[in-house]
Amino acid sequence: MSEIERVTVVGAGTMGHGIAQIAAAAGMTVGLHDVTEELIRNGLDAVRANLDKGVEKGKVSSDQRYATLGRLRAAPNLDDAAAGSDLIVEAVPESMELKHEIFRRLDRAAPRGSILASNTSSLSIDKIASATGRPERVLGMHFFNPVHILPLLEIVRGEKTSEETLDRALVAGRRMGKEPIVVRDSPGFASSRLGLVLGLEAMRMLEQEVASAEDIDRAMTLGYRHPMGPLKLTDLVGLDVRLAIARSLHAELGSEAFRPPKILERLVAEGRLGKKSGRGFYEW
Ligand code: NAD
Repeated sequence: MSEIERVTVVGAGTMGHGIAQIAAAAGMTVGLHDVTEELIRNGLDAVRANLDKGVEKGKVSSDQRYATLGRLRAAPNLDDAAAGSDLIVEAVPESMELKHEIFRRLDRAAPRGSILASNTSSLSIDKIASATGRPERVLGMHFFNPVHILPLLEIVRGEKTSEETLDRALVAGRRMGKEPIVVRDSPGFASSRLGLVLGLEAMRMLEQEVASAEDIDRAMTLGYRHPMGPLKLTDLVGLDVRLAIARSLHAELGSEAFRPPKILERLVAEGRLGKKSGRGFYEW
């Protein structure tokens, strides 16, 4: 099994810059791509800021910072970057059309043996892989935000993903410092499906006046050691984002557990989207 040494990350936004950072920190050579040079620069600046904070807190040595930045470069030409990569991780916005366009292009440009991974949080890996002529080398590598801090990596195995591809992704993920879990390609994978049930039930409890938002959250933080309660977490993720996922899982899984609660529909309609709009279940 050949190790992964050269990585390209497509999309330098919230997730992409973090993925580029941990791959470079793990000793891999990384190219970061986005649609403009400015966006790539912003992504590289975000990595530098993360590393500077790490040095300040004593979590990253200045040698590590220097070496990580040295292995990371801008990749304005996607075809060239893909041609020299063992692994390409796509982290562009959550649209099947866009992901298909990127995967078609990567399939043409990348060597036959390289792995094409998507960081999608909800789209089907089998559908994404169908844009390529190498579905056995396609899988999901779902990282969590902030990527350089949260330890989970959800590896999503498509129907046609080969054993070898899975093994290589597991080795690469562990080398990047993550703890991988392997999940079959199914709606919401493991993390969103479980996390959302808790969030939606907390909203139904609030609707039924079982307890205040603060106390519902405390039930989970103090009783179950969750770092944050499900309602506060919804405020951080965005109520609109959670509503969209609930609608899609309700339609795909057909379970009442995912029917969007009225309170969620109402707050989103009122523009109370959580932290980003200043108000959700809490005032920010
Ligand atoms: P984002 O909007 O912060 O970043 C996406 C980047 O992709 C942008 O910089 C954009 O310019 C770039 N882009 C758009 N079209 C492109 C193209 N054709 N080629 C190259 N780059 C292009 O989005 P994000 O939050 O980083 O999300 C990226 C993916 O990760 C999505 O699939 C999302 O569902 C998933 N995800 C997000 C989170 C999260 O918390 N934000 C967590 C897990 C997974």
